[in-house]
Amino acid sequence: MTNPVWKVPYNYLPEQFKNRDDIFDAWRDLANSAEFTLGPSVNEFENNFKKYIGSKYCIATNNGTDALILGLKALGVRPGDEIITVPNSFYATTGAIIACGAYPVFVDVDETYQMDVEKIQESITHKTRCILPVYWGGASPRMLKIVEIAKKNNLSIIEDACMAIGGSHKGIKSGRFGNVSAFSMHPLKSLNVMGDGGMITTDDDEIYEWLKKYRNHGMVDRDHIDIWGVNSRIQPLQAIVANIELNKIDAIIAKRNINARYLDESLNKFSPNINIPPRFQDDIDTFSLYMFTCKNRDGLLNFLRDNGIDAKIHYLVPLHLQVAAKPLGYSKGSFPQTELQANSIITIPAHQYLTQTQLDYMVEKIGLFYTQL
Ligand SMILES: *Cc1c(COP(=O)(O)O)cnc(C)c1O
Repeated sequence: MTNPVWKVPYNYLPEQFKNRDDIFDAWRDLANSAEFTLGPSVNEFENNFKKYIGSKYCIATNNGTDALILGLKALGVRPGDEIITVPNSFYATTGAIIACGAYPVFVDVDETYQMDVEKIQESITHKTRCILPVYWGGASPRMLKIVEIAKKNNLSIIEDACMAIGGSHKGIKSGRFGNVSAFSMHPLKSLNVMGDGGMITTDDDEIYEWLKKYRNHGMVDRDHIDIWGVNSRIQPLQAIVANIELNKIDAIIAKRNINARYLDESLNKFSPNINIPPRFQDDIDTFSLYMFTCKNRDGLLNFLRDNGIDAKIHYLVPLHLQVAAKPLGYSKGSFPQTELQANSIITIPAHQYLTQTQLDYMVEKIGLFYTQL
C-alpha cells in the first residue's frame, strides 16, 4: 500500500502543528530581535527545562545525538574506552559511542525491552568507563538498580532519555539518575520541535562549564577560547517551539497513558497471541512507542497496514546484527532476548490525537486477525 490515507495514522504532527499562530507570533518576535545564535530564547527554554526536570544545569544542543556525543565526552570518554549499552536502541545510541572512538559493549534486554540489570556486572572490565542505559520507547530501565551497580564499580552513568522527557521511575524523573543525561526533541519524541533539538542535563559544576564552552567552539567570550570545541547549538527557532510545547507535555503524556492502558486491557484478551510487556505502577512511561510482542508479527503488520492502521517495527534488525556492527564481533545468538523481540515486536499508534473509535478499530482488527488464524 503506497501513501494511503491512514484510518489510524502514526504521524500526529499535522494535527499538532496546524494553525500555530502562537509559534509564528513568537518567531516573528525573534526575527525582529535578530537573536539567532543562542540568546534569550535559548536561555528561557533552558531555564524552564531544568526546572521541569529538576536538574541543576542544562545545555540545549542541536539534536539528541549530539547531546549523547557531548555527554560522553564530558564524562571523559576516550578512544578505547568501553561503554555498556543495549543492542535494541535507535542507531544514535551506539553511533554516539563510536563517534567518541569508544566501544559499545552490549548487554541483552529483559521482558520490558530495557537493559537487563542482571547482565551488567558480568560485562564490566577494566576498560569500562560508563553505563549508557536507554529509556526504550519512553519506559524506564530499572534505574535505581543501575545506579547501585555503577556506584559499586565506580562507573559513571549517561542516560539516553531521548524518548523519555516527562517520564519517571519510582517518582524520580527520567534524566535524574545519570551523571549526565541526554534528551531529544526530534518531531517523534514526547517533547518535540519543528525540526531537530536536543538537551543535556547535569548537576555537576565542572561538566556544565565544560559543556557550555564545548557546545559553542570552546568560547569564553568572542575573543578567547579555553578549549577546542564544536558548534552544537540549538536553533533559537526550535528553542521557542520547545518552550511552548513544554507547557503541554504532562497533558500529552497523561492522554497517551490513558490510551495505552485501554489498549493494554483490550489486547491482553488476545494473550497468548499477544504479549503486553510488564508495566510498573510507580513509573511514568511517555509511550513514545506503544509496543508489544505477538505471534505471526509480519502477518499482523501487513494485515493492520492493509486495514489502514499505520503499524511499524522498532526495529527489524538489532544493532549488533547491522552491517556497521561487524567489526564489533557479535553474531546471531549473542543477545537472544533482543533477537526474539526484534522478530516478534510491533508498534501501533497510541498518540494523544487518537479517538476512541480509532482505538476500538485497532482492537477489533487485531482480534479479527487472531480469530482468523
Ligand atoms: C531519537 C533518539 C536518539 C537521537 O536523537 P536525535 O535528536 O534524533 O539525534 C537517540 N537515542 C534514542 C533512544 C532515540 O530515540
